[in-house]
Amino acid sequence: MIKYTIKNEGAQKVETRAERTDAAELVRRWVIPGESRVYVLTFGCQQNEADGERLLGLALSLGYGRADSPEEAELILVNTCAIREHAELKALSIIGGFKHVKEKNPRVIIGVCGCMAAEPHRVEDLKRRYPYVSFTLEPAKIASLPTLIAEVIRRKKRSFLLPDAPNVVPPIDEGIPVERLSRHKAWVSIMYGCNNFCTYCIVPYVRGRERSRASGEVLKEIEGLVASGVKEITLLGQNVNSYRSDCDFSELVKRIGEIPGEFRLRFMTSHPKDVSDDLIACFAGTPHLAAQFHLPLQSGSDRILAKMNRHYDVARYLSIVERLRALDPAITLTSDVIVGFPGETEGDFQATLDLLTQVGFDSVYSFIYSPRRGTPAAEYTDQIPPDVSRERMRRLLDLQCEISAEKNRPLVGQTLRVLCDGPSPDGAPGMMTGRTEGGKLVHFPASDQTAGRFVNVRIDRADAFALRGTLIE
Ligand code: SAM
Ligand code: SF4
Repeated sequence: MIKYTIKNEGAQKVETRAERTDAAELVRRWVIPGESRVYVLTFGCQQNEADGERLLGLALSLGYGRADSPEEAELILVNTCAIREHAELKALSIIGGFKHVKEKNPRVIIGVCGCMAAEPHRVEDLKRRYPYVSFTLEPAKIASLPTLIAEVIRRKKRSFLLPDAPNVVPPIDEGIPVERLSRHKAWVSIMYGCNNFCTYCIVPYVRGRERSRASGEVLKEIEGLVASGVKEITLLGQNVNSYRSDCDFSELVKRIGEIPGEFRLRFMTSHPKDVSDDLIACFAGTPHLAAQFHLPLQSGSDRILAKMNRHYDVARYLSIVERLRALDPAITLTSDVIVGFPGETEGDFQATLDLLTQVGFDSVYSFIYSPRRGTPAAEYTDQIPPDVSRERMRRLLDLQCEISAEKNRPLVGQTLRVLCDGPSPDGAPGMMTGRTEGGKLVHFPASDQTAGRFVNVRIDRADAFALRGTLIE
């Protein structure tokens, strides 16, 4: 019995595995081969990209073909992000634009998936104000996609899944088909959800309680990917390093290191409070493990870190950095920082700037604090005026730009191993792009045949955000 509660406009029921299989059969009979196509539009983080590949894989397994645009699709899945207000408003505006697609073709089914689909007020809003949206489907319940489509076909019913009670640990659905969008890079989700409840963050509410996959399942998936020619694996989790099932995260990394083949291993996103000595020790030569660590800092002020409920202080953060650099002085370090968290004084902000200078991050993803409904920080009375946050953000970006440029400068003249991703997105003829072991973006002239291969590139120029180089045969 799968204990997902399905609520449609009339009834509530519990979905069984047999019902799910029947639903999939019904959808397959309804789909018109060669004509019915699916379009998945994904916003947000890497976890969402991975979920988007599962939504697509599942839809293809039901008989849908792939559409290049929403206009030619019969199934449109909007895989939303809820981390900031801006992401939600963008998704809502795009969903609004799909009204005309439905009007032109009544067979069109529109589903809203992702984190927004787990926020009760957004689900209510979609139900009332977007009558052409057929269902919402939260991230923990992707496997229910066939059932929701079948409800529309069978009963013309719109369905809105109820979020689980906060203490419920959703089951892990192994075996959902995945349609990977890259042939040489793959996301591998190893754990889902988050138990940390940082006071600003919506994730624990929309992605549910932490749960980790069995290590055997993870290893089997990675072995299959490597055998099929994948050259870079990124382990994913909202708190990837709090992975715990039959082994802990450092043990999992070591076991992946034993898999033969030519590939790089990365992981994200780690929480400083869960960085163990054993995990740091993995950077002393675990095969495949790239010399790169993304470790969100969020703030350089202990007072703000405590208010954010982060469970570490600046001293703990710096000790991790020091130990990583002692093992590998060239390791690439990147981070996330929030600007304008409630109550952040100029002094707190200055402490963040000072820490950026002290650590010397290779790059930083910085975000202006966005109040999320239902989180404690949204209720704090000491919200920072938007113009103050924007001005601080500008200063942070300027500083980090200088630091990144300085970090990249010594790379000029070095020959680095680059995994070529393909033609430069800016369309410059004959230019390819790739990533170094540290994850730095490199542009270099080469033929299309280098795509998906490791190549050596001599760095000729280094800017803050990208390197340029020459292919060395
Ligand atoms: N689990 C990771 C961690 O503990 O740092 C991060 C996951 S979160 C999806 C990615 C980043 O979004 C966070 O590191 C944080 O900087 C940012 N973020 C989360 N909630 C935010 C909010 N309400 N406003 C602005 N940025 C936010
Ligand atoms: Fe959000 Fe904090 Fe969980 Fe990261 S650890 S997903 S920031 S609640």
